[in-house]
Formats: sequence, C-alpha cells, structure tokens
Amino acid sequence: MAGKLFVISGPSGAGKGSIVEKLMAKDDKLYFSISATTRPKRDYETDGREYFFVSREEFLDRIEKGKMLEWAEYAGNYYGTPAGPVDEKLNAGCDVILDVESHGMYSVKALRPDAVTMFVYPPSFAELERRLRKRNTETEERIQSRLKQSRLECAHAQDYDYIIINDDLELAAEEARAIMTAEKCRTAERLHILKEDKTL
Ligand code: 5GP
Repeated sequence: MAGKLFVISGPSGAGKGSIVEKLMAKDDKLYFSISATTRPKRDYETDGREYFFVSREEFLDRIEKGKMLEWAEYAGNYYGTPAGPVDEKLNAGCDVILDVESHGMYSVKALRPDAVTMFVYPPSFAELERRLRKRNTETEERIQSRLKQSRLECAHAQDYDYIIINDDLELAAEEARAIMTAEKCRTAERLHILKEDKTL
C-alpha cells in the first residue's frame, strides 16, 4: 500500500518548518522530503538536514537529467524536490511531506492530483515581519524582498485544499495532523485497502 503525498506551503516565517517538526515527532512513518537549493546556507542549517546546498550548475544538471520532481526559482535562488527519495518512500508505504512554494505546489498537483495541499497562513503581516526580524539572519533588503514575496505567496492560498492559520503553533500542528488523518480515512483510500485484504 503506497503512502500519501502531502504538500505544505506558506510564506517564510509562517511556521511551516515548526509544524512539520511537530508532525514528524509524532509519526515515524512520515518522511520529510529534503529539497535541493542554490540559496546560501544559514548559520543554523546543516547540509543534508534542512536542504542539500548545491551550486547552480549542479542544480541545472539535476533538472536536465530528470532528477527533480518539481523545481522553482524563488527570491533569486533555485529550489527543487529530488524525485528519487519521494517515490522510494511512497512505495515503501510512508507518507511524504513536501515544503514547497506555490509554483512547486501547482507542479506537484499536476503530476500527482491525489496529493493533499495545505497552506500555512501567518496570523497577520505585522506578525510575519516580527518573526522574520527575530530570526536575525537576513539583511534589511532581503527582509523587504521576503515580505513582498510573502504577500504574493498568500494570494495563492485559495488554490490549496486546506488553509491553516498559525496563530498558535500547537493548534496549527494539531490541525495539520487532523487534515492528514482525515485524508487517509477517505472512502476511496479505505476501499483500496479493504479490496487488497481478501479476507474482508
Ligand atoms: P527558505 O529560503 O526560507 O528556506 O525557503 C524559501 C521558499 O522556498 C519557501 O517558501 C519554501 O517552501 C520553498 N521551497 C523549499 N524547498 C522547495 C522545493 O523543493 N521546491 C519548491 N518549489 N519550493 C521550495
């Protein structure tokens, strides 16, 4: 029985990363897809943990060789989902979650229409700005660019299956978990399992 594919998106600072951490802490059959990116590594990041940090040449080579499930350019850098590990985990029966921006979501949905998509909304743009500044990892120019990008990202929220408003992290993670559980209990999903079990 193949696992289920989930997509989570939302502007920087909306809290996707923290929500995913909470989901993974309670579900050892949930695999987080580690993306490749050409963006410079932040101090607190480790290559192979948050991202695989690669050069533009390496990234373009991977696209050319068909190794990316999807990819997009965001705020001047490339980001993409390595296809191999996602298929491997799904085939092994694990659920997979992708943290991608909205163009990535559209590409995944076109390739895998059964993927379930969730958009994490910040409680307000003032709060988003506060969170971005608190990170203290970016220059003023980058913060302004990310805020602009965030507003553009939020305009795509309407195209997602679900919207989670991250005012309270615990509650937001609980909502994401509830969505994922409910999606796995859909009649079509369950009938699939029941039909495979010849004893039922
Ligand atoms: P950040 O630089 O803050 O880590 O990520 C910037 C944006 O890139 C976020 O919106 C994140 O969801 C998106 N992103 C991360 N990995 C991927 C990916 O593999 N594909 C796409 N399309 N977007 C990604």
